[in-house]
Amino acid sequence: MEKFASAADFVKKRSPVLPVLAARPHAAGRAARWFLENFPGDVAYAYKANASVFLIGALYGAGIRHFDVASVAELEDAITIPNANLHFMHPVKTRFAIRRAYHDFGLNTFALDSEDELQKIVEETMGPSGPAKDLNLFVRVAVPAINSRIPLEHKFGVSGDAAAQLLIKARQVAAQVGITFHVGSQTTTPDAYVSALEEIHKLIVLSGVVIDRLDVGGGFPSVYPDSRPAPLSDFITAIEDGVRSLPMRENVRLMCEPGRALVAEAESLIVRVDARRGNELFINDGGYGVLFDAAHLDFVYPVQAVSRPVDSREEMIPFSLWGPTCDSIDYMAGPFVLPASIQEGDYIEIGNVGAYGRALAGRFNGYGAYDDVILLDAPLLSIYPDEAEDQVGEGLPLSS
Ligand SMILES: *Cc1c(COP(=O)(O)O)cnc(C)c1O
Repeated sequence: MEKFASAADFVKKRSPVLPVLAARPHAAGRAARWFLENFPGDVAYAYKANASVFLIGALYGAGIRHFDVASVAELEDAITIPNANLHFMHPVKTRFAIRRAYHDFGLNTFALDSEDELQKIVEETMGPSGPAKDLNLFVRVAVPAINSRIPLEHKFGVSGDAAAQLLIKARQVAAQVGITFHVGSQTTTPDAYVSALEEIHKLIVLSGVVIDRLDVGGGFPSVYPDSRPAPLSDFITAIEDGVRSLPMRENVRLMCEPGRALVAEAESLIVRVDARRGNELFINDGGYGVLFDAAHLDFVYPVQAVSRPVDSREEMIPFSLWGPTCDSIDYMAGPFVLPASIQEGDYIEIGNVGAYGRALAGRFNGYGAYDDVILLDAPLLSIYPDEAEDQVGEGLPLSS
């Protein structure tokens, strides 16, 4: 993969025809090192956020060995990572997926939020000599979403008496039993984890079950122009305090599953302006592509013009963006603040799209094909402190 100093350097040398996914593997490595150093347990990367080999390689190079997968395809992809510990954390799995995971790939960690799913797992992991004896089962609990951009509690999770009953039943068939939750993606304040852990406290007391593991899920924030979260260290402190007060053994194994926070900064999208109409720019990628969250959830990403040097005195004004498809919902309201002189033929770097950008892009209308490149400069926005040069390791290239 070709490397360039910056998006401006790349555009000057290549004038790309397709939109470009520009990875900064060093930024994924920095995020992973921060979590591995600061989180008091296993750090599992949520695979769905971005499965680019450049970023997975950087996470691996930084020391990430746990991965949260949620489908057979993710499983088959992630199983090629050497010494990876895979956890199948989707609460609703197909029977085929459970069999493939357990019998073909040796996965034994599963999430569930119903007795039906528990029964499915028990049935499909059965061997010739009877029920599996090595299952690690995590009961997914519904917790309130607080200051989250994308709440998840309405889709998955069990609570109250039903959760206590499920925990008791899981205990009877599991080698290790745990509790997991997800506070919702892009959660900007740590109180979401505080109240989640209060719910867990009640559940442990209600069920009387001794738990072996606790997985605080994902939801850790990144930074966007319109979403400035509390410092990540506050989230770790809140989790440590909450965990300390839980009625459970000291040696309970902790895990977290960040997706967004590990990769958001590590990819930019480079697009070309194909038309300008007032404060609206028509660009060559959009809501059916990497900018899905900008179109459908009003995410605002940092932007910069990269085709020519911008005079620092030039006026900066807000633009909205139209994607390339014929559909009128292919629209990103922004505001995306760019130089007033931006015009057809100019290129724009749209930063911090690494989480759920590449992952959500589709091929509607014949669009959705990208060039790939690696950039060596800093991401447009970062939540992580700068590291000394000598701390930064090389990402290991993965063989697939
Ligand atoms: C999506 C997901 C994650 C990652 O969430 P982020 O908000 O990206 O950190 C973690 N765990 C589970 C079970 C998920 O579904």
